[in-house]
Amino acid sequence: MAKKKFKAESKRLLDMMINSVYTHKEIFLRELISNASDAIDKIYYRALTDDAVSFNKDDYFIKITLDKDNRILTVSDTGIGMTKEELEDNLGVIARSGSLDFKKENESKDGFDIIGQFGVGFYSSFMVAETVTVISKAFGSTDAYKWESKGVDGYTVAAFEKERIGTDVILKIKENTEEENYDEFLDEYRLRSVIKKYSDFIRYPIKMDVTRTKPKEGSENEYVDYTEEQIVNSMVPIWKKNKNELTDEDYENFYTEKRYGFDKPVRYIHISAEGTVSYKAILFIPEKTPYDFYTREYEKGLELYANGVLIMNKCAELLPDYFSFVKGMVDSEDLSLNISREMLQHDRQLKQIAKSVRSKIKNELENLLKNNRETYEKFFKAFGRQLKYGVYSDFGSNKDVLQDLLLFYSSTEKKPVTLSEYMVRMPEGQKYIYYAAGESIERIAKLPQAEFVSDKGYEILFFTDDVDEFAIKMMGAYKELEFKSVSSGDLGIEAEESKSPHSEDNDMFAEMKSILADKVAAVKASKRLKSHPVCLSNEGELTIEMEKILNAMPNQEKIKAEKVLEINVNHGVFKSLQEAFTNNKEKFKLFTDLLYNQALLIEGLPVEDPVEFTNNIWKVLT
Ligand code: ADP
Repeated sequence: MAKKKFKAESKRLLDMMINSVYTHKEIFLRELISNASDAIDKIYYRALTDDAVSFNKDDYFIKITLDKDNRILTVSDTGIGMTKEELEDNLGVIARSGSLDFKKENESKDGFDIIGQFGVGFYSSFMVAETVTVISKAFGSTDAYKWESKGVDGYTVAAFEKERIGTDVILKIKENTEEENYDEFLDEYRLRSVIKKYSDFIRYPIKMDVTRTKPKEGSENEYVDYTEEQIVNSMVPIWKKNKNELTDEDYENFYTEKRYGFDKPVRYIHISAEGTVSYKAILFIPEKTPYDFYTREYEKGLELYANGVLIMNKCAELLPDYFSFVKGMVDSEDLSLNISREMLQHDRQLKQIAKSVRSKIKNELENLLKNNRETYEKFFKAFGRQLKYGVYSDFGSNKDVLQDLLLFYSSTEKKPVTLSEYMVRMPEGQKYIYYAAGESIERIAKLPQAEFVSDKGYEILFFTDDVDEFAIKMMGAYKELEFKSVSSGDLGIEAEESKSPHSEDNDMFAEMKSILADKVAAVKASKRLKSHPVCLSNEGELTIEMEKILNAMPNQEKIKAEKVLEINVNHGVFKSLQEAFTNNKEKFKLFTDLLYNQALLIEGLPVEDPVEFTNNIWKVLT
């Protein structure tokens, strides 16, 4: 029979599995059982909603069979099965292509993390088996097929006899080596404890023939072995249990078993709501940002169960975008099994559940912020940007939910602070919440524009995310306090003895403005500069940072902030400028150009003509 080749990516993963020295190889069983359970979910749902499919609860189970002598371990299910095409598509190609991207980033770790954290599904069988055979008959089909592979060489698919619908995954367990003991996966007791550990909450019975002994008939002290089929798992889904029966480990196992993420959650929320709407839920706040989180590919949503039956894998309606990082499930008796995706959007019950879920998440985050700052800061590093997008989107309508969850780096505290903490510290007379925007904390700390506000003793919030300024513009104010950029035209601070410029200086500024033409809106004597000779500030709503961000977006019409070139009249450079203005117009033009370009550089904006700029520097130097 002709061998088919695995896709390149799958081959790499397979290779990793076969040669894996990962210590928790037992997780292959969790993966197979989880696949089996998913497959039963699919047919179970059909059986409940489609009269043509007979429904008998006893028909749905997973069975583990051991044949020690031949080193064979089989995981069978009565699930939906796979057609020939599905066998090829699902098992010949790695399903979660993201896991390999993840692997690339963590290359040095040799695949340990990918196995432990992602699971990598079906492929993990190759950690313990030299041959993997899958025999499957799909729902609605009369033929069955056998898929078989010994590893990277490829696989074969052929017709096969199988009576009932479902899938058998047959593993020929590897021989022991000097380093590895594979016999343990043929040990009944060991397998039972693995199932208990990872798959206890699977809703369908996991059956296994268990060896027992009984007294031999007609004899008092002789015993014989016999086998008895037992259900190994407790089958009560974790969300139906009492919180006090469960340990942190139980929740963490559930998180992994469900493949909600490859990290450990920082927080879990177990909800058991009764009242206008009754539902149970387990929600998780992940620790790490999923690799695709800030991309279009990322799909938010919670698993949705109607009275214990999974009806949707990712119900997006249950989560607002700003909490899209939350993982988990909701089970409600108030939902109809037959509900369609379109109907869900208008379902009153579902809307109420979503509202309740939202407020539970919010409370949990507030608690975390209040009681465990360190963990909250970690969380905020991973998902804070999403909260800020939340403030910005929908015309700021969610600002009340979110504004107290935001953190910004503070110039005085040297750490992230909340807006309310900022407010409490404000000295008398301060009228605004001051902020400075830039690409990093280090760069913002050096901005000449910030000096004046800092010297005044005011705290400045550093905005380093591209969304920050847009978010607060949308917010407008925090508890009636408005925000003010340190680069804005009017800072709302009375300058102390501000020397008003002489009229000849005003003539000079006017000439600078005409040299720079429409590159700037005005040239002015600065009220904010202390040690630096120049800076840019802006008039109007659009700040220079916003201009940078908007212009970096593709297919956008280029826009321009109204920039003001501010000159420090107390700086030595100003004297040279005055001198050149009266004595040497050529030099004056040169100085104007240099000062303007320096101001651009300080802002992190590109110099318009780098060659001319450097030429001009040489001219001044020689
Ligand atoms: P994942 O389960 O994360 O999608 P796997 O590699 O474990 O990745 O499985 C790939 C796909 O193969 C599954 O999504 C499913 O469609 C199919 N599959 C695996 N095991 C079974 C099974 N026992 N019954 C039916 N389909 C299965």
